[in-house]
Amino acid sequence: MRSHYEVIVIGGGHAGTEAAWAAAHALGEGGSVALVTMDPRRIGTMSCNPAIGGLAKGQMVREIDALGGIMGLATDRTGIQFRMLNTSKGAAVRGPRAQCDKERYACEIQRIIAAQPRIDVIAGTIDDLLVENGRCVGVLLPAGAGIVRPDEAALASDLRTPGAPRVPFAGRPTQPTTEPTAIRAAAVVLTTGTFMRALMHTGERRTQGGRVGEGSAVGVSGCLGRLGFALGRLKTGTPPRLDRRSLELDRLPAQPGDAPPVPFSDLTANDGRTSFPHLPQVLCWETHTTAATHELIRANLHRAPMYAGQVDAECGPRYCPSIEDKVVRFADRGEHHVFLEPETLHTDEIYCNGISTSLPEDVQDAIVHAMPGCERASILRYGYAVEYDMVWPHQIDATGETKPLPNLFLAGQINGTSGYEEAGAQGLVAGLNAARRARGMEPVRLGREQAYIGVLMDDLVTRTPREPYRMFTSRAEHRLLLRADNADERLTPLGRELGLVCDERAARYAERMSAIAGIRALLRTLRRDGKTLEEIAKRPEVTAASMVGLLVAGGAEAPDPSLVDRVITDLRYAGYVTRQQTEIRRQRDAERTAIPASLDPQAVTGLRTEAIEALRRFRPATMGQASRLAGITPGDMTLLALAVRRSSGG
Ligand SMILES: Cc1cc2nc3c(=O)[nH]c(=O)nc-3n(C[C@H](O)[C@H](O)[C@H](O)COP(=O)(O)OP(=O)(O)OC[C@H]3O[C@@H](n4cnc5c(N)ncnc54)[C@H](O)[C@@H]3O)c2cc1C
Repeated sequence: MRSHYEVIVIGGGHAGTEAAWAAAHALGEGGSVALVTMDPRRIGTMSCNPAIGGLAKGQMVREIDALGGIMGLATDRTGIQFRMLNTSKGAAVRGPRAQCDKERYACEIQRIIAAQPRIDVIAGTIDDLLVENGRCVGVLLPAGAGIVRPDEAALASDLRTPGAPRVPFAGRPTQPTTEPTAIRAAAVVLTTGTFMRALMHTGERRTQGGRVGEGSAVGVSGCLGRLGFALGRLKTGTPPRLDRRSLELDRLPAQPGDAPPVPFSDLTANDGRTSFPHLPQVLCWETHTTAATHELIRANLHRAPMYAGQVDAECGPRYCPSIEDKVVRFADRGEHHVFLEPETLHTDEIYCNGISTSLPEDVQDAIVHAMPGCERASILRYGYAVEYDMVWPHQIDATGETKPLPNLFLAGQINGTSGYEEAGAQGLVAGLNAARRARGMEPVRLGREQAYIGVLMDDLVTRTPREPYRMFTSRAEHRLLLRADNADERLTPLGRELGLVCDERAARYAERMSAIAGIRALLRTLRRDGKTLEEIAKRPEVTAASMVGLLVAGGAEAPDPSLVDRVITDLRYAGYVTRQQTEIRRQRDAERTAIPASLDPQAVTGLRTEAIEALRRFRPATMGQASRLAGITPGDMTLLALAVRRSSGG
């Protein structure tokens, strides 16, 4: 094992794998990345729901993909049901979602990581960071840590083969360390997910661990505390898993996926060059809880860890609440929807989407058995809650780098977010910037008008989350610009410039852009009943399919309907988009004006105490970030602008 890497990533979850991948690509030839994780067999594990994407989250996966990341590609290769959500609404708020075979998903992520020669996977749990002169300079590996090489036979196997897939990183570490060993790096990315001082709860029973069957990372939050980071504690939970053979699914409404499905990744373009969908597609089913079980839940609330005062965590995810929270918060509801979703193709495990719970097992049995179709259900695994330490994100910059400890980057659930997509997005930003830091290059921050990823990073650094942060379309003020279908136009050229986008993606992007330009030109020139097709395309009743028909009738070669759809959407949104772009240009100067790190808010004449406190807590990097802090008024901004101009000699 090397004693020095350019970038070390701690944690092989959704944030860590994107971070390692982005860092390896941004570093390019000769770069070196270590991905140190507790248990390499679990790299890419979906802790909870076997699904990727959804409203706003799907847009983020498209953005990760457009920037060369891996989540969309792994989803396409392991998806067992694809659905575009919100199709009855405008293109801006549609969100792609896919349910994956969760074991194959982790396998695919591991294959992608294994195929990148610049990444070494190291088995080991990190308790300590190395710090010198106020900077993070590496990590301390425990005894027994070592590189795990991928298993060649597992890499060569076909994911379509029936039965359990073989995980590439299943082997033992080679030449494990015999004592704690320092490895140095120019930048370190910490992505501990739900594992820092993690405690799992089912009823009165408590076990240490961040996920069932796995350990807890005990030392690292103590290390962060000693380094002066302010830590918090959050919780999340997961529902019981049922045995499909014990369910009467034919009594329930079935939910099929889209036919044909739309892939996430631009590398899986639906153009016959790649097989898609890669795996057989499955159904999901819909059932519901009943009023009788709501009564039972109320009667047993004192046995729920959150309500019994057994959990230290301040709060759980409001937008993905436990069934006990739903029953308390929506007391007038007689039932709650539950979706029964297959977790893999080769097991009978069914995920009960909608009844995340940490109630004792006897109560979970009663809740499940009262749901139509589940009266005789066998529970394979009971639901549980997990509480864990996190770092309040006002301590990071929108690049992911921490302010108290330069060269240390944080990404994922450790920053108080929830969800795979939010984690992956932060991982990509942190991995990219860690690589740039290692090479002495300027950091990259995405704007709120550029990507949901930009909205996410900006929200994290300008407001303190009161609950695990989840992305919504309503969080983006420029959502007409931030569509799932145009993520490539917004981000792929930038990704290419930053070294994240491979030649194949760049070539496909160029092909698509030229096809779109061709469609636009045809719409402007071809006419029907005295009107150009462009004028006709703006009518609300016109669909992509009908426009393809008109183009072909006009003598054009049949174009890709998804590109026609995109051109039509652009035409319909053109007026709003121009207005939004004018507003963005107006704000651009503020967004770009840096606030010198040396500027002391206390020394700014006339600034109110509340504003001084907010500026001290968040230490915004730009005037744009400062303007979004709670407690900052337009008057404060004027005084701050004056001080910034003076400090830069203006
Ligand atoms: C029980 C449960 C229920 C959940 N329910 C939901 C939900 O309903 N909705 C939702 O949006 N999200 C939910 N989540 C959260 C979801 O799993 C996370 O959002 C997502 O996995 C975060 O990705 P991450 O990369 O930050 O962390 P993780 O995926 O947790 O990955 C962290 C990785 O870091 C490794 N690691 C941690 N500490 C160390 C260390 N010190 N040294 C080495 N390796 C380390 C771990 O082994 C793991 O591989 C749930 C999670 C759990 C555990």
